[in-house]
Amino acid sequence: MLKEKLLIEDFKNILKEKGLKCTSSREMILEIFSGNKRPIRAEDSYNKLKNKIDEATIYRTISSFKKVGLIRRVNLRRESVYFELNNDHHHHIVCEKCGEIEDFKENSEIEKILGRIVEKSSRFKIINEHSLELFGVCSKCI
Ligand SMILES: [Zn+2]
Ligand SMILES: [Zn+2]
Repeated sequence: MLKEKLLIEDFKNILKEKGLKCTSSREMILEIFSGNKRPIRAEDSYNKLKNKIDEATIYRTISSFKKVGLIRRVNLRRESVYFELNNDHHHHIVCEKCGEIEDFKENSEIEKILGRIVEKSSRFKIINEHSLELFGVCSKCI
């Protein structure tokens, strides 16, 4: 589990922990994910680091972050693929009009229900992970 606010020292430790060499581009990309409260696209981090890192490195780094579980993919039902830091377990509410995203963490009841669903299943015993996104309209767009 990662801390909410990460420092450069943390980035170095995290990369080491995940068996990734600590390069400056990896640090910079990790910093972008940690500084962003919302899921972002690979191209968003590219836009922020345009003059510092080439596009191929960004995509390669994001793919290796995903592989070691440092970031996770979020399904926002959009054309582009979104990722966020894999630090704490939460779910999302998404506005279908403006794209606003809110995290929610009031999970305990939901998590219990999901556990019961698996218990009742005759064909599934182990669930490795789950994601839950609610899609609707935010108060600004009503
Ligand atoms: Zn909206
Ligand atoms: Zn959950």
